[in-house]
Order: sequence, then structure tokens, then C-alpha cells
Amino acid sequence: MLKSRKIAVVGTGLVGSSCAFAMVNQCICDELLLIDINEEKAKGEAWDLTHGVPFMSQRTKVRTATYADCTDVDVVVITAGPAPKAGQTRLDTLGVSAKICDSIVTPIMESGFNGIFVIASNPVDIITYHVWKLSGLPKNQVIGTGTTIDSSRLKNFLSEHLDGIDTRSIHAYAMGEHGDSQMCPWSNVSVAGKSFLKMREENEELAKIDLDEIVEKTARAGWEVYNRKGTTYYGIASCVTGIIKSIFHDEKKILPVSSLLEGEYGENNVYTGVPTVIGKNGAERVVEIDMTEEEMDKFKKSNNVLREYMSHIGY
Ligand code: NAD
Repeated sequence: MLKSRKIAVVGTGLVGSSCAFAMVNQCICDELLLIDINEEKAKGEAWDLTHGVPFMSQRTKVRTATYADCTDVDVVVITAGPAPKAGQTRLDTLGVSAKICDSIVTPIMESGFNGIFVIASNPVDIITYHVWKLSGLPKNQVIGTGTTIDSSRLKNFLSEHLDGIDTRSIHAYAMGEHGDSQMCPWSNVSVAGKSFLKMREENEELAKIDLDEIVEKTARAGWEVYNRKGTTYYGIASCVTGIIKSIFHDEKKILPVSSLLEGEYGENNVYTGVPTVIGKNGAERVVEIDMTEEEMDKFKKSNNVLREYMSHIGY
């Protein structure tokens, strides 16, 4: 008997419903379960999504569910959490987000769930660590969206300086906290295998780019969207869907998700954005890229920012 592919999305607000829409459009699973404390909202989303299914290339059965239904779910996506209000940072929502996660992860684990958690709720690195601790699952089964969205934003800014080259042909990572302290290891950025720093040596226009400014713009890009439309959701929904596709198809794509470090980069006991091989076992391996001393210093500082905030919820 074939087993159907099941995803549960917890939190059907703007991020959760956008994730669900991307998943149904890209036909990545057979069954999509929607869970929200606001059951009527989840029901409305399930119906709305179902009404579009006749126009998709494959059928996805979308319905509302309870935590008890997560027993045989392959991937649970957590997007429940308060969207930050104007003037707040993602870290300001930590206490509330952590409490919400307690009420979600405990019953899911009681259902017998043994799949993979993909966390988008902010502050994502710390919430992912919290879910890892609460669930008791091996680290490969708990993944945060980390700096996937930031890396995408970074590539978009770089593309603007590179005659519009496709962002998928640019290798560049934002790493560390999904937040203000994130950094970019420029010594690793490449286009068609050519080092970006080398390209700068050979091109006056590229040499003029202020790299620190690009990192700052990348970290602020979410707020630039926020200032114009009140919040962000399509970009992160695409990241979540991409992560799950890499799991389901065992793609072994390297994505800068939030992974637990246990010795990699000389760091321990912190979930942070690092290039990670994503395959059928979830976060299969952290890739340790070479960094200059200065880059490593920035990366470690960012991890220390995360540790400081972890201590606010008792870690
Ligand atoms: P939203 O307010 O639109 O939706 C949140 C949903 O969570 C609501 O439907 C609410 O009913 C539900 N919810 C609240 N408490 C719950 C509980 N205990 N159990 C189940 N459901 C519960 O917010 P949003 O814009 O969708 O953002 C959700 C989260 O995603 C926030 O933490 C936000 O910061 C985060 N986010 C992350 C990224 C990223 O890059 N990782 C990007 C955008 C947003």
C-alpha cells in the first residue's frame, strides 16, 4: 500500500495560508491539514484552497485537523505566532511565540508524530531551538527557515549589480541570526564559479559597491516590505515550500536553514542560519564553508546575540 504524503500547517494566518497556497499550487503533497486556534479561520482557508484544486495539475486534499491527526504526518510547519508590531523586533515577540509553541508541540508529540518540523515563527532561530527541546526529536527533524529568506534577498540585491543575472545562478548566503545581526561571508560569494571578490578586483563598478551596506539592506529588506504592506508572507511561504520539496524529493539541496550546531564552526548548542544539506532525513548535514577571520568573528557575534535571547526563555 502506498502512503500518501501529508503536511500539517499550524497557524493559518498570513504566513500559514500563503504556505498552504504555495503547496497546493506546486502540488507537493497529497494531503494538507490546516490547524489554528481559530478553527473557523482554518476552515475558511481549507475551503478557499479546495475551491482552486480543480485548476491544479494534481489533487491535494485540504482539510482542517487537530493535533491528534498529526500521528502520521510527514512534515509539520509551524507558523503560529504574533506578527511583530511597528517598532518591535522579531525578538520582542519571543515570550509569546514560545508559549504558543508549548501549546502546539506537546500535543503533536503526544499524537506519536515522528516526522519533521519546519518552523517559520519568529524569532525563528530561538523558536526552532525551543521546538527541538520540547519535542525531544533528533536535531535533523527540527529545521528553522533561518536565513533562507535573507539569502534570497541578498541574491536579489546582488543581481541588481550583476546586470540582472538570475538569482539562482548566484551563490551567496546570509548566515547567523534571521535578524539584525546576520552576516554574509563575502569570501564565499560566487557567480558561475567565479569569486565575487575577484570580480570586484576586475570591475570598477562592482568595486564601488559597499558590501556592509548590502548586508544591512538585506537584514532590513523584510522591514521595507513591512513598511509598505504591513507584513511579509509570500517570500517565506516560497522558502518553506522549497525546504519541504527538498525533503520529499530527497534533493540534498544546500539551504541556509536554521540548524543546530554541535561543533561545526567551533559552535555548540545554538540554532543558527548555516548552509545545510536538506534531504529525506531533514537537516542531514551542516556544511562548513571557509570563512575569513573577520567573517567568522561576525558569525560568532550573531550566534552570541541568539544565545543572549535564548537565556530570556531559560536556556
Ligand atoms: P498572523 O497573525 O497573520 O497569523 C498567526 C496565526 O497563528 C493566526 O491565524 C492565529 O490564530 C494563529 N495562532 C495564534 N496562536 C495560536 C495557537 N496557540 N495555536 C494555533 N494557532 C495559533 O501572523 P503571520 O503574519 O502569519 O506571522 C506568523 C509568524 O510568522 C510570526 O511569528 C511572524 O513573525 C513569522 N514570520 C516569519 C518569517 C520568517 O522569515 N521566518 C517571515 C514572516 C513572518
